[in-house]
Amino acid sequence: MKVSGIFAAALSAFFAAAALLAMPQNSSAPNDTLAGIVPGRTRVIDLAYAINDHLPPWPGDKKTFQAEPNATFEKDGYFTRSFWMLEHYGTHLDAPIHFAKGGATVDQIPAQKFFGPGVVIDVQREGRSNPDYALTEARISEWEKTHGRVPSGAIVLLRTGWAAYWNDAQKYRGLDAKGTMHFPGFSAEAVRVLLQRGVNGIGADAISVDTGASKNYEVHQIALGAGIWQLENLADLTNVPETGAYIIVAPIKLEGGSGGPCRVFAIVSK
Ligand SMILES: [Zn+2]
Repeated sequence: MKVSGIFAAALSAFFAAAALLAMPQNSSAPNDTLAGIVPGRTRVIDLAYAINDHLPPWPGDKKTFQAEPNATFEKDGYFTRSFWMLEHYGTHLDAPIHFAKGGATVDQIPAQKFFGPGVVIDVQREGRSNPDYALTEARISEWEKTHGRVPSGAIVLLRTGWAAYWNDAQKYRGLDAKGTMHFPGFSAEAVRVLLQRGVNGIGADAISVDTGASKNYEVHQIALGAGIWQLENLADLTNVPETGAYIIVAPIKLEGGSGGPCRVFAIVSK
């Protein structure tokens, strides 16, 4: 790709590259998804948590992350580490194969699916009165009445407010005495509506996109079964507007992976 004005603001080049990537394959129609973003008048919100060995683990996961020095300044004159981690730990992406046999592995998801307009549905109020709250079709309709139809290619993020508990694993997972978790999530009916809209992916600021109390992971079954991806343990979504943000999702390209650690960026107007 020849970027004319290579010395122009780095952001401009970045948007040009992003626009190219966001263009659907085998399509000559220009993609105007980024049209609302004015280079130089945006800021980037990092929606991923830093990875270490004391993040809230999925119940039952004992070993989660380990890093060791590989090369050191003292011995080698430079610094590298090796690390080991679970694919589903910290801010991560669930690839279709996580729940759908024969589904795409994380490296097989087409790159253009990782770019899209952000749709943030705020259910903090609902979650405060009912930690088992599951997103309803009615709540999506309410969002659409205010902001218009959820656009095709959207990345739909559920703002539960649970990111506020990230540093308290007990509270974040809401584990009760019986070992059941409690936090809000998507529902089967909500995901079916979003699939009709043609969204690229869904995500939540909680340890699962299903509700904590879910036993059969219906959202996982339906969303991943339909071939879209999911984001879990997203960082605080407070500053991402309900509409108008542009989301860039950058998962590790792990061959054969069921998912993996992921950087997620929201580009919002200043
Ligand atoms: Zn996962």
